[in-house]
Amino acid sequence: MGVGGVGAPAALALAEAGVGALVLADDDVVEASNLHRQILFSPSDVGRSKLEATRDALRARAPRTAVELRATRATPATVAALVRDAHVVIDATDNFATRFLLADACHLAGVAIVHAAAVAWRATVLAVRPRGAPCYRCLFEDLPAGPAPDCASAGIVGPVCGVAGAVAAEMALDLATGAERLAGHVATYDGRSDALRLVAAHARAACCLCGTNPTLVGLDEQRYLATHACGGDAA
Ligand SMILES: [Zn+2]
Repeated sequence: MGVGGVGAPAALALAEAGVGALVLADDDVVEASNLHRQILFSPSDVGRSKLEATRDALRARAPRTAVELRATRATPATVAALVRDAHVVIDATDNFATRFLLADACHLAGVAIVHAAAVAWRATVLAVRPRGAPCYRCLFEDLPAGPAPDCASAGIVGPVCGVAGAVAAEMALDLATGAERLAGHVATYDGRSDALRLVAAHARAACCLCGTNPTLVGLDEQRYLATHACGGDAA
């Protein structure tokens, strides 16, 4: 979900690793200001659909990987159909509302998900096994009440996106192969100190999604209306 600065390197790593099929979802076009971090695109792609530019780049590098395109964003109306057939979803989207929507939809559908974000010099990646705990809501609970740092205010460093994408691909392979050694773990990367840390996240018994008495049992549209810009790279 999202083939921007984080999603593109993740897709490339998975295709090069021999993954048989990738389904890419995005509805954006390539912009010149994105090129420093969106490594599959060149200046001649500016103005093209990110999906088509990504598909062409992957075909050239990994022709045996089948690539399907879904020219849409995840919304409460579309998300169930987007995630239900996936072995693993990678959340490389650009806003908290979509991140929570994907977390909830994957949990309810029993699909593994990797949440990957990069802001400024810092990348954060979380792997969640199918209906697993801890989940994204164990860590972040709900949409931020106020403005959150985003790419526009905090900036975004291209190589940090690359690390986030590479780690997300590793975690997706870990989940897809059933190894699940990284499930329930958060990887954080700080580009200023070049420090990559992997820590076990803690499940919250009171979590509304994966806790002992879950209250979130459907995708109520109102829950995802907040439009705070994000903890992640532009899709
Ligand atoms: Zn949870």
